[in-house]
Amino acid sequence: MNMAPQSPHMLPTPERVLSTLNQDGSRRWIDPRSSPGRFLNRRRGIGWALIALFAALPLVQIGGKPALFLDLMNREFTFFGTTFFATETLLLALLVVGIFLGVFWITALLGRVWCGYACPQTVYLELVYRPLQRLVEGKHGREGAPAWRRVLRFVVYLALSFVIANVFLAYFVGVERLSRWITTSPAQHPAAFAVVAVTTIAMFIDFAYVREQMCTLMCPYGRLQSVLQDEHSLVIGYDATRGEPRGKLESGATRTHGDCIDCKLCVQTCPTGIDIRGGLQMECVGCAQCIDACDAVMDKIERPRGLIRYATQATLAGKPKRTLRPRVVLYPLLIAVVSSGLIAALAKRSELAVEFLRTRGAQFTVLADQSISTPATIRLENRADAAVDIVLEPEAGVTLLGAATAQRIEARGYIEVDATLIIPRERFVNGRAIVCVRARNGDRVVVDTEHTVLGPLFAGGVEKNP
Ligand code: SF4
Ligand code: SF4
Repeated sequence: MNMAPQSPHMLPTPERVLSTLNQDGSRRWIDPRSSPGRFLNRRRGIGWALIALFAALPLVQIGGKPALFLDLMNREFTFFGTTFFATETLLLALLVVGIFLGVFWITALLGRVWCGYACPQTVYLELVYRPLQRLVEGKHGREGAPAWRRVLRFVVYLALSFVIANVFLAYFVGVERLSRWITTSPAQHPAAFAVVAVTTIAMFIDFAYVREQMCTLMCPYGRLQSVLQDEHSLVIGYDATRGEPRGKLESGATRTHGDCIDCKLCVQTCPTGIDIRGGLQMECVGCAQCIDACDAVMDKIERPRGLIRYATQATLAGKPKRTLRPRVVLYPLLIAVVSSGLIAALAKRSELAVEFLRTRGAQFTVLADQSISTPATIRLENRADAAVDIVLEPEAGVTLLGAATAQRIEARGYIEVDATLIIPRERFVNGRAIVCVRARNGDRVVVDTEHTVLGPLFAGGVEKNP
């Protein structure tokens, strides 16, 4: 944590504006010391379980499908055996809104527990990359390590980033495709090779260079903390009433200082370089390293643990604890509403989607018997895992030309059929008619759908295209 030489072109700020910025504007590299303790042990247990889960999930199959597969190329998303399609916007929107509300609720209750214990950025940085750095560079630290050790660290980082990038990509391209990419020459799939290379380099830059800047400056969730939390959310805080005035350890019966002996171990262990004694700060990722560091100091000087501890800002300020607040009640209510909508939408979900696409510039025609003929492109999307043969039947009185024979649609595929609808003229109200179309697979009704068809309007007694 040494200060870079002052640039002659920059005016120093009167005080430090960011914990990771020197007063001359250069990056202040954080090299935190590890503080063993109960919270670090918990984080290690949870973090390694999550790393194992991350590596295993692409391989786990539920109902013959990957447990989690975000197939961007085919625009399909599989969650625990259920595949959603990009066209199922309502379902996907409900799912995403539900996840967001869940995160908001947890944050309102437990603060940045996600950041400290489960976020991949923190888990990989603090449990994998940082310990590897300590192992390779030893006691020398970032600035003092010989060049060969620094080079070795970057080589190790690059190899590790390659492995993690491949696991990460398995979620988006699937294990089978990824295995093909890995086991065949890059010349056979240059685009895939480029994807792997770019992902590896992005991971390497993130964990070797960006590091805590991702949490303190870039992550939108981190920036939203001030609105997602209130003074009754659980945070990691310093008990100033007990700790202040801080000062050197005193011997003898008379004490003029609080419990904080100003050893600064809580600062030296902080991965974002802040001093928690200054109060709750946006940069705090809730890693609890300062608690472990301070508890060890308290043990040594025979004072009670918990000078830095999990608490709410209200209780630290001597105010009463208040668990039930409007946001803590509102979020679960909203989650219940969204979940009900999701369950209802899933129950109504059909294995076949029938959509009438408007043909650009297409005109309807008034036939001799005054019925209306209009061209239509019908998109049939099969969401099932087996091929189907679909026959479309319009409601009585409506004719569908061009789609009467069975249309074969492969598993999770789609086709577009050019057809013509002939609709009795009296069915049109204000230039629109709603037409019901039934899709059958043999004797089985797959889905009934309704479609709005544009037809003639009357303006001043003259028919016009709408
Ligand atoms: S570790 Fe505890 S005693 Fe030491 S400076 Fe921090 S708060 Fe004070
Ligand atoms: S202040 Fe404490 S909990 Fe917050 S990031 Fe620093 S060490 Fe972690």
